[in-house]
Amino acid sequence: MVCLLDMKEFENTELQSKIFIEDGAYHKLLSIIEESLRKVETGGIIIGHYDSAFQNAIITEFTGPPEDSKAGRFRFYRGIKGLRNLLQQYWKERNEYYLGEWHLHPGSSPNPSHTDIEQMKKISKDKNFNCKEPILLIFGEIAKKQVTCLMMFKDGKMYSYKEKDFERK
Ligand SMILES: [Zn+2]
Repeated sequence: MVCLLDMKEFENTELQSKIFIEDGAYHKLLSIIEESLRKVETGGIIIGHYDSAFQNAIITEFTGPPEDSKAGRFRFYRGIKGLRNLLQQYWKERNEYYLGEWHLHPGSSPNPSHTDIEQMKKISKDKNFNCKEPILLIFGEIAKKQVTCLMMFKDGKMYSYKEKDFERK
């Protein structure tokens, strides 16, 4: 499938909010996943910014797993090594900041597990993250097809974002 647009667009109609993923960031995500050989869970953080009205998020970067991460077939613990410096650098150079988390469900559905949901709720309340509405992206597979699940957590609730299909327009 060829897409000429340089961003992927996801929407939640209830919140009238969109999340955009820059093409460069998405391709980097695919290469990180390729590197893990899809055998173990992998993940990292999402960096980007909101628009001026704080309605839409723009994702510009997915980081790979920090060195001190721990990964298994069905679990992933994201480490923290180097993230503070990285985020300081993004803030200084590009006014961009932590938006949330991403991880891989190798060979299985991208639906969030109970643990995934609880973890995101914790992050939204954790002052260290300074992110009340964190985004979670899970990359998985349904019937051998790659599927992305994108959601945002706000006031203890989970909101799903659906990818806009430009092909059908
Ligand atoms: Zn998960």
